[in-house]
Amino acid sequence: MLKAIADWVGAMVPGALAALRYRDAENHRALTEWHRALFENHPDGVYTFDLDGHFQSCNEALERITGYSAGSMHNLHFNTFIESDYRAQTQAGFDKARNGEVVTYETMGIHASGSPYYLEITNFPVTIQGEIVGVYGLCRDITRQKEQEAQIAYQATHDLLTELLNDASFQKKLSDTPIEEDNRKAVLYLDLDGFKSINDELGHHVGNQVLRKTARRLIELTPPGATVARLVGDEFGVLISDYRSRDEIIQLVERILVHLAQPIEVDGQMVHISASIGIGSDCGPLDGAEDLLQFADVARERAKLGGKNTWQWHSGQRAEHSINSVNLRHDLHTALQENQFEVYYQPLIDTVTGHICSFEALVRWHHPARGLISPGEFIPLAEQTGQIVPLGLWILRQACTEIAEFNACREKALGVAVNISSLQFIRDSFLDDIRQVLTETGLSPQILELEVTESVLLVGTEPVIELMEALRTLGVRVALDDFGTGFSSLSYLRDLPAQKLKLDRVFVEEVTTDRRVAAIVQGVITMAHHMDMVVVAEGIETWEQQNDLVRRHCDILQGYLFARPMPLADLKKLPAKNWLT
Ligand code: C2E
Ligand code: MG
Ligand code: MG
Repeated sequence: MLKAIADWVGAMVPGALAALRYRDAENHRALTEWHRALFENHPDGVYTFDLDGHFQSCNEALERITGYSAGSMHNLHFNTFIESDYRAQTQAGFDKARNGEVVTYETMGIHASGSPYYLEITNFPVTIQGEIVGVYGLCRDITRQKEQEAQIAYQATHDLLTELLNDASFQKKLSDTPIEEDNRKAVLYLDLDGFKSINDELGHHVGNQVLRKTARRLIELTPPGATVARLVGDEFGVLISDYRSRDEIIQLVERILVHLAQPIEVDGQMVHISASIGIGSDCGPLDGAEDLLQFADVARERAKLGGKNTWQWHSGQRAEHSINSVNLRHDLHTALQENQFEVYYQPLIDTVTGHICSFEALVRWHHPARGLISPGEFIPLAEQTGQIVPLGLWILRQACTEIAEFNACREKALGVAVNISSLQFIRDSFLDDIRQVLTETGLSPQILELEVTESVLLVGTEPVIELMEALRTLGVRVALDDFGTGFSSLSYLRDLPAQKLKLDRVFVEEVTTDRRVAAIVQGVITMAHHMDMVVVAEGIETWEQQNDLVRRHCDILQGYLFARPMPLADLKKLPAKNWLT
């Protein structure tokens, strides 16, 4: 038998070794020994089968791998030692070798102890004098390698703290999810409220426990087919891939809110947490399931604005009203990368000196097909899709850079006011963004002013006051834009540490023709002055309006009467003159 094995091995040994074969009788004996040693001492399992797949011989390594002795395997079929689900493919691998091919494949063996293990098998036909007489093979236990691969794959796709899928996997899941009309999908974007203060005040250890517990609750509460992921920090995403009714989703998020609001015990102390949930669903044409996450993100911001511990739904319907806005929404994706935005500047005139005291930065979009598009059209879209955040940051950086450059060759620096959307203003990173832009551009904080509308207050007055205080400490001023058009609650005016108030154009339009409007304008100016606020009147188009507001001691005027918003290059050409006539 050994000789036969040695011959088979000889048949398998390639190249120079094969060439040595049978050179002469003396060599033949030495070679046989050599082959046998090779067979017996090979670190991989080595074995031979007859043409029906019965074990004929094997080396020690195979005994170690399988846990069976050579004797007990003899004449048994290889599939006796293979996990039942893998037998068909193992047989197929054998059959190929039996028919003359060299094949390598993976399968799963069952060890003598009963435990499964991964095998990598290479089978060769044994050919003697042109005839296939059996199958010869090598096998390795690759269980550890498989485990390591699985561990690496797990780490790359999961968040190790919560053991949920990570952001990258969630994004991949979304992009792999087809949009089908009869199979409705929704994405939940869940953001814990006040998590930062738990981390800051109770420590990261407690914060981590809260995140783990939240993850577990989400897994328990969501339906079996749902995909739950931790996106970043205290934000989670859930993809529901087939829901029947809106009510079903609403019941689910209500359930989640109720369960998350139950206190979590960490090291003997009770921690209270709640969440704001945005729901994004597909009620119209979508580019892909990724859009749902963006809708959900917008809805989440609204849920935060709506007072937290609540949910909001967004299905992009508003953007779908006209085909125009669908296209614009799509074009917004690339507009930033392709440098299609430009910041224009409109001068503001000091009514005491008659000189320009600052500029308002107003963004313009040079659309490749539609020409110049006004912010009134695309800013609301950018707010709906969440793109206002990167766009707003770009505008801020651009305006600061350009005005720093503009001021560099002037004796007296002029200020710049940048409009900040509420969604941008209430983001946790906003203050850091401001600091970073000021450092990057070298603009003095006193030169920068931020224009916000009172809708920022919907997030709750306290965080807004806190942020405005922090901005004031930094030296950056805040102006309340479009004053008079929203709630204009007097208590807001009392509480907010804003330094400037911009009276909306609708009042300026009628100040000279409507006595009641004139009374409101006068009242606002007087009231603001008593609170040490500077008053700006927007939209001055006529001499009458200018003179009326100067007479009422309005501090600053802005409008087409003086100048329209213009590119930076035109700004540099403006004469130093008294603009009031
Ligand atoms: P806003 O902040 O109230 O800006 C003033 C708007 O009034 C500007 O419109 C300006 O061109 C226009 N305006 C100025 N003087 C006159 C005038 O005498 N008559 C008339 N009829 N209009 C005048 P624009 O540039 O179209 O901007 C519209 C709105 O879009 C802005 O209102 C602001 O809310 C928003 N916006 C503009 N740029 C930005 C930006 O960079 N970021 C954000 N978040 N919003 C922006
Ligand atoms: Mg403004
Ligand atoms: Mg305004």
